[in-house]
Amino acid sequence: VVILGIETSCDETAVAIVKDGKKILSNVVSSQIESHKRFGGVVPEIASRHHVEQITYVLEEAMEQAAISWREIDGIAVTEGPGLVGALLVGVNAAKALAFSKHKPLIGVHHIAGHIYANRLQEEFKFPLLALIVSGGHTELVIMKAHGEYEVIGETRDDAAGEAYDKVARLLHLPYPGGPEIDKLAKQGEETIAFPRAWLEPDSYDFSFSGLKSSVTNTIHNAKQRGESLKPEDIAASFQASVIDVLTTKTVRAAKEYHVKQVIVAGGVAANKGLRSSLQQEFANLQIPLQIPPLSLCTDNAAMIAAAGTIAFEQGRRSGLDLNARASMLLK
Ligand code: ATP
Ligand code: FE
Ligand code: MG
Repeated sequence: VVILGIETSCDETAVAIVKDGKKILSNVVSSQIESHKRFGGVVPEIASRHHVEQITYVLEEAMEQAAISWREIDGIAVTEGPGLVGALLVGVNAAKALAFSKHKPLIGVHHIAGHIYANRLQEEFKFPLLALIVSGGHTELVIMKAHGEYEVIGETRDDAAGEAYDKVARLLHLPYPGGPEIDKLAKQGEETIAFPRAWLEPDSYDFSFSGLKSSVTNTIHNAKQRGESLKPEDIAASFQASVIDVLTTKTVRAAKEYHVKQVIVAGGVAANKGLRSSLQQEFANLQIPLQIPPLSLCTDNAAMIAAAGTIAFEQGRRSGLDLNARASMLLK
């Protein structure tokens, strides 16, 4: 099965071609980060326009790199949500046009299912499986007992982990996107500030990061008023320690409770070096296989959408040409 995937939910215009949900034939990503940098975040209008400008080139490039003809492609998978509606629409409309003109089945894919399936491009899943999704818009713990079946056991009640990274980076006057900047800075600092950990109820797998963000804001503000100067690298290290502690502890507890055979990590924050090493250490001790995609598959790409779309295709799930972009959408 060869599936062409399209992803335009946020600020990456991406097209990829994947064989059997596992082998990447091409994976082209055109990032708009530079255009959004001076605004300190993604500007929806600019994002949509970029997608419109880029989609045709990215598509041609993906076909060329895969050295494939349309005849060999079995279906078109596209991110239908969640994301910026104007951005999603560009991908959805491109996918519909291709499905119609090339006579191919159309498959709408949930963006987070895509992030999860980025891992299957590395290694086959072992069920039951626990997925920790940590991205710009999501922080979720998901149990999967079979392909295409998702049970969300915990999620953020306010900010997503990546969002917290980006907001704290802004407080420290670091460029957008802030995650990688804080990650770098944290390595040079030490945990000198005891920021709070939001554990919530003892049995909860939910997350909350807005209190931590406020605590960072107040700490910086108070220090300034007292005329003290805190080292940005120590603030970064202390913030990162709090995030990693909560993410690691809850993931470990869930892995034990659900007796999972594999733990996978997905989403942009999975690129975080501190988080990777913390999880690697814990799961090595527990002897539960842990899988984290390479950096290029952690952030938004279309190979992951094609990979998730392949399973849906094999399970006979199809979307009609009335497929619409959905800004918010449950993972199921
Ligand atoms: P979603 O997938 O929820 O719709 P998104 O697609 O914007 O959101 P991703 O592209 O998966 O999110 O990830 C981007 C996020 O990952 C940003 O918030 C960015 O700061 C964060 N990020 C990237 N690299 C790192 C890193 N090394 N450490 C921490 N965060 C990081
Ligand atoms: Fe994403
Ligand atoms: Mg992104």
